[in-house]
Amino acid sequence: MAAMEYPHLQNEDTDLYDLIEGEEKRQREGLELIPSENYVSVAVREAMASALTNKYSEGYPGKRYYGGQEFTDQIELFAIERAKKIFGADHANVQPLGGASANIAAYFAWLEPGDTILGMDLAHGGHLTHGSPVTYMAKLFKFVRYGMKDPDTGEIDYDEMREIALKERPKIILGGFSGYSRSIDWAKISAIAQEVGAVAMADVAHIAGLIAGGAAENPFDHGFQIMTTTTHKTLRGPRGAMILSKGTVSTPLRAPEKTIDNLPTLIDRSVFPGFQGGPHMHQIAAKAVAFKEALDPSFKTYAHQVVANAKVMAEVFQEGGVRLIGGGTDNHLILADVFGSLGISGGEAETLLDTAGMTLNKNSIANDTRKPFDPSGIRFGTPAMTTRGFKEAEAKEVATIMLDVLKNRDEANALKAKGKIKELAEAHPVPESFI
Ligand SMILES: *Cc1c(COP(=O)(O)O)cnc(C)c1O
Repeated sequence: MAAMEYPHLQNEDTDLYDLIEGEEKRQREGLELIPSENYVSVAVREAMASALTNKYSEGYPGKRYYGGQEFTDQIELFAIERAKKIFGADHANVQPLGGASANIAAYFAWLEPGDTILGMDLAHGGHLTHGSPVTYMAKLFKFVRYGMKDPDTGEIDYDEMREIALKERPKIILGGFSGYSRSIDWAKISAIAQEVGAVAMADVAHIAGLIAGGAAENPFDHGFQIMTTTTHKTLRGPRGAMILSKGTVSTPLRAPEKTIDNLPTLIDRSVFPGFQGGPHMHQIAAKAVAFKEALDPSFKTYAHQVVANAKVMAEVFQEGGVRLIGGGTDNHLILADVFGSLGISGGEAETLLDTAGMTLNKNSIANDTRKPFDPSGIRFGTPAMTTRGFKEAEAKEVATIMLDVLKNRDEANALKAKGKIKELAEAHPVPESFI
């Protein structure tokens, strides 16, 4: 990762300077396998570090509650127009601070408390914000669930989804996942939504970059109306999120009816003033910079390489006798049943691989027999390593080292592997810029 200089920080606060340097070294030397993480360009980091953090811009371009917006208005418009172009959207709200805030704002744009959302079972790959009982969302809305027909093929049970939709009459059918490795039949989901009069909403936080680069299907091409996404995962932008809509016209009514046509206004009002205060303009500027990178032809190459690398790693694991949830991968991530296949728990695997310089996370798998705190699976992925320039050969080498570490279950062996991983990482520094 490109080293940045922090002379003022070093001078003013050595405690924080040392910790930040430590984290940067960790990111440079280790191998990041957490599928929701990535490395941004230096241009994105520069925008994040700019004086825009000083500015209040409550409202939207041309309709602000504070003066001095001649630059911020243009910055936000760049982010909006680029986001619309990437995803073929009719409207974009780029103010959500993170994926969770984007989902809450999108739910409230369309629903009233007590309304029903049909989403993916959390144990089958859905996200916490899709109604986990520990979230406020679960207290405010009624979540009902669909899942996979068979965890060994990963196929979603679309018949079950339709049956539940007909019975429960959800107002939103939610597609989108953080722990699911196969392609999604967006058309089937939106057809069911249409049949029951629900809005089809995709939460593509994990795969937005793959969609942007043409390596995954775009829900908007298959009848979806709302799409939420983080900007910091495969999309390789700053930490943050956005809400997009399609098939909608912006009609700035004062008290908009809850109709599809009015989604842009409903979404904008839900984000601000409904849920958030002033937007983080430094973050929005950094989003705009990342969107420019995602529109560059090089991003297509990146997105396809992410998937190619994941497929190679999945093969190494399967040939090594490890059961993969979904039976393989079509995207950037792999979910492996290490307890069922190798007798090592997800937590122990995470720790051992950490010792070997590889960061990933333990993960529950469908029908897990173990507790969430130390489940049967691990989840890993290729977005960050692909940004470093890893191709199939290096991906294969990493997967082979991982398997060796997991099969030997020996700390000395893991430490030996760490040397190899550090060499691989240092031979592939994160580029300073991508275009
Ligand atoms: C990561 C993720 C989120 C939440 O994003 P945060 O920025 O961490 O709030 C929401 N939905 C899905 C599917 C995700 O993967």
